[in-house]
Formats: sequence, structure tokens, C-alpha cells
Amino acid sequence: MRVEATAAVAAGSSARDALIRSDRKAAEKAVAAWVDGKLRDLSTPVSPDAMVEPVLPDSKDGLEVIRHSTAHLMAQAVQELFPGTQVTIGPVIQDGFYYDFVRPEPFTPEDLARIEKKMKEIVSRNLIVTRHEMPKTEAMKLFAAMGESYKVEILEGIPDDRVSVYQQGDWKDLCRGPHVPATGKLGAFKLTSVAGAYWRGDEKNAMLQRIYGTAWATEADLKRHLELLEEAKRRDHRKIGKELDLWSFHPIAPGSPFFHPKGAFVYNALIAFIRALYERYGYGEVITPQVADVELWKRSGHYENFRDHMFFCEIDEREFGVKPMNCPGHTFVYGSAKRSYRELPLRYADFSKLHRYEKSGVLHGLTRVRTFSQDDAHIFCTPAQVQEEITRVIEMAGVVHRAFGFEDIRVFLSTRPAQRMGSDAMWDHAEEALRAALAANQLAFEINPGDGAFYGPKIDFLFRDALRREWQLTTIQLDYALPERFDLTFVSAEGKEERPVMIHRALLGSIERFLAILLEHTAGALPLWLSPVQARVLTLTERQEAYGAEVASELRAKGLRVEVDARNEKLGYKVRQAQLEKLPYMLVVGDREATERKVAPRVRSGEQLPVVSVEEIASRLADEAKPPAIP
Ligand SMILES: [Zn+2]
Ligand SMILES: [Zn+2]
Repeated sequence: MRVEATAAVAAGSSARDALIRSDRKAAEKAVAAWVDGKLRDLSTPVSPDAMVEPVLPDSKDGLEVIRHSTAHLMAQAVQELFPGTQVTIGPVIQDGFYYDFVRPEPFTPEDLARIEKKMKEIVSRNLIVTRHEMPKTEAMKLFAAMGESYKVEILEGIPDDRVSVYQQGDWKDLCRGPHVPATGKLGAFKLTSVAGAYWRGDEKNAMLQRIYGTAWATEADLKRHLELLEEAKRRDHRKIGKELDLWSFHPIAPGSPFFHPKGAFVYNALIAFIRALYERYGYGEVITPQVADVELWKRSGHYENFRDHMFFCEIDEREFGVKPMNCPGHTFVYGSAKRSYRELPLRYADFSKLHRYEKSGVLHGLTRVRTFSQDDAHIFCTPAQVQEEITRVIEMAGVVHRAFGFEDIRVFLSTRPAQRMGSDAMWDHAEEALRAALAANQLAFEINPGDGAFYGPKIDFLFRDALRREWQLTTIQLDYALPERFDLTFVSAEGKEERPVMIHRALLGSIERFLAILLEHTAGALPLWLSPVQARVLTLTERQEAYGAEVASELRAKGLRVEVDARNEKLGYKVRQAQLEKLPYMLVVGDREATERKVAPRVRSGEQLPVVSVEEIASRLADEAKPPAIP
């Protein structure tokens, strides 16, 4: 292909030239440019009056350009090393990129190392990256001649008459761009994994091979990221769940955890904590059917919008659906009697199991499952009560977040979307009520304009964990639609029938997912009140077996959960095992402790505390083991 030297570049006015005139240093650093507000290649011809700004490598857009360019670099390396491999798509993802390849043989970890080496070599060749615009038909001929049938298929789907092709050395790819000006601008990258992926994400299509990579502006940034990845592996809740004997999975029930006694203990302790809040905040717990006639799901809208994520069965020639959400069931509790404004608000809480079909490819430990429970509740109130109710929910959310030491929290208010039900006056009122409730709790928040549901605005709480990853926790949603669909009413003070507002809210969200987040945030070091085993007595020799049992029973009498390890093993071995299980306390007893009726405590880290009497440690632990106080 002929490299087009456009007239404008020849005249010396590319985006890069413009940048050099204003700030040479920034121009040298830049990986692309903003030209009149559009992200462009540095080689883009610009008019003399254009507004040109540098896109620096460590900016959000700069990183995207680097990551996408590194995807090209990887694809070039793959095709140089493995001729005959076809390329498909290679987008940017969080922290990196991937590229999907068509190749009969699987890529091995050794292949990834070879590809990385080849990428470094192409970086050192410092190939100029050029953009060529051409008619779509010409591009189709070009890629057909290269044997790239997937690129031809992609081109068929592009409506434009003209497309752009990027070239570095002999290697070409269909792409909108922009890209770095030369391969020498890249280098801080690492290929992380390879996985199967269906063409266009459809399992009826061919299985491709997806290679994932991460790329950064500097080696230091890459190093920091890789360290975080290593730490994330160490903290992976799937690994911790096994080490702490909390749950297991079996192919007999995909995506459905089997909770072991210790896991069920933590699970129930989380629910008990939330239940205690319900007493304080005036909620009534309800229990509603697990399986209901599809008529219910048709009326709620789930059949129309959520069917692909539901389980169904046919019994007695009736079609039933397993509940994916509690909301429709709660409308029946509300609607079971004629309601007066005097009864409102009614707050129904529900810890029921929910079932949602998730594709097997997206299942992931406890964070993506097919069965789970939420600390779910629905509040039915008058429109005038919305603000007060939301204020209370936010206050409650604060109590929960503080109880777990979650400090780094961002709050988002999502406002009316383009497609919505209800009048503008209703939305004005609803959004104002949410704002006022946030203000009443002195919470700073950001706005997600247009991100509300069609049936009402919402507030979301995002929590940043110890590894700086963001998780959505609490969510509060106003809903004006479901009361309409189920024809819910209350009799107002004026004796008129009016619609209540429904508030959906969950504080922890899914208990399963919350447990996963908590385990990764704490690296498995659960607080004492949530620890299934709070202390283990470790005997030094067989001689202390009886005394060890006495210590344990004295602590149990204080309500503590205690085990004894009286095995004939070295102390170091017993300590290491207790540490692996993340036990909060180890109480070592030897002959001297037995005589003096004392224990030598150690904490998870292995740090030794001063020797104390059994009474002393029992009262100290009993104190620490109290669940967080509810104000
Ligand atoms: Zn590209
Ligand atoms: Zn709901």
C-alpha cells in the first residue's frame, strides 16, 4: 500500500507540528492529540486556526490510545510468529486490552512469553504508525486478499462508504484509531492470560482465542499494577473460601454454592446483624413464595424483560417461574388488605433465596452466582413520605458501612433517563427528595445524569476496597411503576384512593457477593464477631490436653467459639495452620500456663501478647466479639 503524504502534512501543519509550536516538551510526550475537541492521531493534518491539545500518556485518553495500540502490537507479533492466524477484534478494557484470534492450536503460556518478546522487538524497530483512508470496497478486497475473513465480515457491517486502515511496518489493521505515532512509544505492557471467547459473544459461533494484556504509561505504573494483581490473587475469595472451609461448588449445581458449617455461620451472622437493624428501623420481615405462576411475572414485567435470566418449570399444565426478585411478591402482601394513609409507610424485608440464570461463562465464585439472598426490602409510602424514608435508609446504610470499616465510599444519584414513565413534575419531586435526603445525611454525591431506571431515580453507593477496586454495595431505588402495574392504592386523609410509592433498597446487596467482597477486602481476616472460630487453644505437649479442654470450656461459657488443637505436633506447625485459617486468636498452653491457670495469646500475624489469666482473656475476647453497636 502507498503511504499517503497528504498535502497538509507536507505543508508542515500536522497536529504534532501545531503542538511543537506551542509546547515542544508536551508534543514529544504526547501519544495523540485533541483537534477541535476530537481525539486524533498526531499526524492528522490541521488547519491553521484549529484548537490542538496534547493527549499525554498517563491521562485517561492517553492510556486508552496506548492500550489499543498495544493490542495492535500484540496482533502483529502473533501474526509474525504464527502465520495463518486470523485477527478479529481487539478492544480496550479496564487496565488493558485483548485481541481475539482464530487459530486451530491453542496458545500456551510459553507462547505468551514468545509473543511478549516479539512485541518488545517490534517496539525497538520503532515502526511508524500510519493511517490510510479508503473506500470500504477497497478495504474489503485488501482484507480478503490477506485471508482475513473476519475483518471482511466486520467491514460488511460498517455503514460508512469510507473506512480507515492503520499500518505499522507491513502489518495492517482495520481501525478507527487514533494510535500512537510509532511502536517505540509503547513498552510498559504484560500479557496476562488466554481464554476462549465466541465470535460476537454468541455460543453458536466459532470459538476464538482471546489473549489479555495490560499496558501502562510507564514501567513503574505497570509494576504497581502487577503487584496489585498478585495481591488480588492472594486475596481471591475463591481461594480464601477454600482455606477457611467456608463453601464449595460442584458441577451438579452450577453457580450454586454449598455453604459448609463455617460459611453458613458467617452468612447467618451477616443476616443477624441486618435483622437487628430492622428492629431499630421499623421493618417487618415477610416470607413469600419461591415459585409462582408466570402470570405474576407477566404482570410485573419480568417475563417480558428478564425472562432470559429466569428458571421455569411446568407442573399440572401450568407454567411457573422461580423468583428472581422479591418485589412482585411484596406487592401481594401490601395488596392483601385495603390500606389507609395511617398505616404507611409499610416496610417489608425479605432474605429469601433468589434464582437467576447466568450463563456458565460469567459465573465467578460468590460474586456471580445463580442462587443468592439479598438483604432486600421494599418500602411502601405516600409520595410525601419519600424524602423521610430515603433519609432513614441512607442513615441505615451509614451504620452498615461503618460497621465493616468501609470508609472509601462514593455516592451517585442517577436522574431521569430519556425514556421514562410519569410526568416531569413527578420526576422533579422524586429527584429533589433524593437530593434533600442526601443533604440531610451530609453526604457528598456525584450525579449520573440520565442513568435512573425508567420507573424512578436511584442512589448507589460504591465502595473502594483495600486494592482500590470499586464495588457497588447499597442501592436505593424509587419506583412509581410497580404500584401502577399491581394497582396498589391507599386511602388518603381526604378519603381518596391514591398510589403509594415503592422504594426498593438493599444495604449489603447479595449476601454471597458481599461475603466475597468482605473476604477480599480483609484478606480473609474477618472481625471477631463474624469469625466462625474465634480462638484455638494450642497445647505445647500432650500433658496439657486436659487443661486445654478446661480453657476452651471456660471461654465457651462466655459465648465464645473455641477449638482445641491437642494433636501431637510441633507448636510451629499448629500456629502456621491456624494462621492459614485466619483464626483471630491462638491461645498457647504449656506446663507453666497450666500450673498458673494462664494462657499465652497470639494474634493472626503471629505476634505474641503478654501471658494472661483465663478469666482475663475470656472477658477481653467476649468484649471484642460483640457485633457492632447499632446507634
Ligand atoms: Zn486499532
Ligand atoms: Zn425490589
